[in-house]
Amino acid sequence: NLFEQLGIGPKTVQAITELGFEAPTPIQEQAIPELLKGNRDFVGLAQTGTGKTAAFGLPMLELINLDLRQPQALVLCPTRELCLQITNDLVNFSKYLGQVNVVAVYGGASIINQMRDLKRGAHIIVATPGRMLDIINRNVINFDNVKISVLDEADEMLNMGFQEDINAILSHTPDTKNTWLFSATMPNEVRRISQNYMTDPFELTV
Ligand code: AMP
Repeated sequence: NLFEQLGIGPKTVQAITELGFEAPTPIQEQAIPELLKGNRDFVGLAQTGTGKTAAFGLPMLELINLDLRQPQALVLCPTRELCLQITNDLVNFSKYLGQVNVVAVYGGASIINQMRDLKRGAHIIVATPGRMLDIINRNVINFDNVKISVLDEADEMLNMGFQEDINAILSHTPDTKNTWLFSATMPNEVRRISQNYMTDPFELTV
């Protein structure tokens, strides 16, 4: 199997095979082996529809420690729809991995329920920035074990005015984490984020 050759484990390969993934897309083929190393920042210039969710989601699932029920990966994205889509994809990819807790955090829904889900022990949080910051400010979350932060559709998040929220959220995560940024375009504002938050990132354009 081509995904196994890239380093994805057999249980995840089983799950994505059932989803109809036969061969990796170009971004998956190039990003997965690099991201699986878990030791470098990453910038991917990619549109929606290229398979970027699996490109970061599959390596993320390999890198988190399921025995540790603490947030280890934080995905920030611009909209509720994308937040739910990414969460759903991660749940589907992890179907055979055992208990993987992926919690979606977004505005326009009950914050109480989201905080309850987080307290039960999230391995991965997928969040829109405003609601994430709101929850952080209630001091109910521990980001000490975050080793991956993903900024998905970074250009969209900046267009929507989330720069300050992103800064505040990332300031609560360990400096030792790796940051994986995806964007369809690379305006100066996105360049600046990558300069501020990343060290010598691996860069990929698809
Ligand atoms: P994304 O760009 O992550 O939104 O993915 C676009 C669509 O392509 C989603 O419906 C994915 O489930 C699907 N997809 C992603 N990777 C593959 C693959 N390797 N083979 C088949 N479908 C895929």
